[in-house]
This record gives sequence, structure tokens and C-alpha cells, in this order.
Amino acid sequence: MSEQLTPATAMHYPWQEAQWTSLIAQVEQQRIPHALILGGPKHTGKYQFALTLAQRMLCESPVGGYACGSCKQCHLMTANNHPDLLKVLPEDEGKAIRIDSVRALGEFASKTSQQGGWKVAIIYPAESMNQNSSNALLKNLEEPGPNTLLLLVCHEPARLSATVKSRCRMVKFPVPTITQSRPWLSQVAGQDQDIEQLLDFSEGRPLLALQLIETDLLERRRELECMLDDLAAHRTTPLLVAEKLVAKKPVANDPVVTIDWLYSRVSSDIRSDQGDISSRLMFRYLDRLIQAKKLLQSSANPNVQLLWEELLLNWQLLFVTR
Ligand SMILES: [Zn+2]
Repeated sequence: MSEQLTPATAMHYPWQEAQWTSLIAQVEQQRIPHALILGGPKHTGKYQFALTLAQRMLCESPVGGYACGSCKQCHLMTANNHPDLLKVLPEDEGKAIRIDSVRALGEFASKTSQQGGWKVAIIYPAESMNQNSSNALLKNLEEPGPNTLLLLVCHEPARLSATVKSRCRMVKFPVPTITQSRPWLSQVAGQDQDIEQLLDFSEGRPLLALQLIETDLLERRRELECMLDDLAAHRTTPLLVAEKLVAKKPVANDPVVTIDWLYSRVSSDIRSDQGDISSRLMFRYLDRLIQAKKLLQSSANPNVQLLWEELLLNWQLLFVTR
């Protein structure tokens, strides 16, 4: 959705300026490494960055560091049909990247380019490669073909194998600062949105913030925040809130997502607190949330109502002990 190639010339996001400038300088001085890991948290636009860089590499006559948007190569790119760009993706979101796809990458890398210029392969998300796929990739990393650039777009570089990492140059894409993301988000989200709250709810990740507006998740998240405030102030009971969460009214949601929200609320409370005893309890509470999430994701089929009652009671208790 937000990570699609825009017509004519792909553009990176404004908070990626430093990474862009540095890489383009290396391209222009012909010292771009043959494999890059674009690493950093999800929802910050790394895939869009990879596409922008790919188009720049494939373009016949770049202008000011960017693809021109009008040459044959740029047209092939925007038509999503460039023979010298290979996207190595899982068949379904969340699934592993198949070893066949990585082998196809090997073939792609060993052939000469069809349009006579560079060849670019994007592996996304790179941490979806399992051990076998990673091993298959290593061969390409050891014997890269000429004018071939591999871009490993990775949300969790810690999950990449050490050998893969050691053969690539890491380019870090941290969560942008509010100063970096606010102007962009106000522009695409509209002036009537509470930008600070959106960035707070999305832990500073601008594309997730946008997703919150485009779906009704923002409304649900606000409802959860209200319920948590009511619990903290003893205006409601854990039992009543647990019933609402389970009945999916008004927080119609996957319990795992709701736990993530609760986690992010507690983390944000810890950040804004000044290290008194409560933050120790809050860290312990975060552990409970992690356990609860694991339980929900396991095959144990837990009683969700009881799970929520316990989590919400413990949430309320955090405020009693202050
Ligand atoms: Zn062009």
C-alpha cells in the first residue's frame, strides 16, 4: 500500500535523506558494495527506498542523483516489468522465502543484464529466509556477478545469519525522529489529525501511523486507551473490560494486536516516568504481556476471557502501588 512504487520516479521518504545521499555518492564514485542490508524497524519505508535505489541504478540518464522518470528503463520500472529487477519475496506474507526463489536469484545474478545496464535484486523481508535459503544465497554473495546489486531489506537484522551479514554492508534505517516524520505525516494524513498521538500509537513509525488512519484501528486504539485510563482510575472493573474485549465490542480486534497496544502503552509510560519503583513493576508487567502473547500464539488455546481479566487486574494494580 504505502510501499508501492509511485508513478514515473520512485522517491524515498524525507527521513531517509542521509542514507540516500551517502549511497548515491558511493554509486557515483563507483564504490557501491555488491550487497546491502537495508535494516531497521518495519513500517519505516525501507522497501520503497530499495525500489527508489533500484530505479536509480537501472535508469539510463539519472538527474540530480535520481532516476529520470522518462527513459525506457524508468518506464519498465513503473510498469513493474523491468527484466533486470528481481524481487525475491515470500509467496504469502509472513511465510518463509522459498529456496527455489533464492536459486532463481542465483540464475538471475549469473546472467548478463537484458537491458545492458545494472541488475538489481531485492530480497524482502530478508529475515524470511530460512537456513537453507540463506545458504543458497551465500553463493551469490561470494561470487557476485558484475554490475549486480543485492538489496536485503530486513526488519530484524538480528535474525539474519552471521555469514550473510558478514558479506553485506549494513545500512541502518532507524525510526525517524518526530521532527523528521511530522511534516510528511501532516501532509499525507491531513491537518485535522492528531499527529503527535498517531506517532505515539505507532511508536514513531510513519507508515504504521498512516495505516492507523486508513483503517479503523485508530478509533479502536483510542477506545482501548480510554478503558485503560478508566481502569487505572477505578471507574470500571477488569471483569467488565475483559468482557468488552472478548465480545469484540467496541475493541473488535485480534487479542495479540491488543496486547501489542497495551505493551506499547506501558513502554511509553515507562519512558515518560522518572525511574521510581513503579517502573520496576511496569517492566515486570511487560514480561507478563510477552508471556500472554506467547500463550495466545501457541497451540494451548487459552481461555481469553480469563487471560484478559488477569492482565487487566494487574494493570489496575500498577496504579494502586504508586
Ligand atoms: Zn530513467
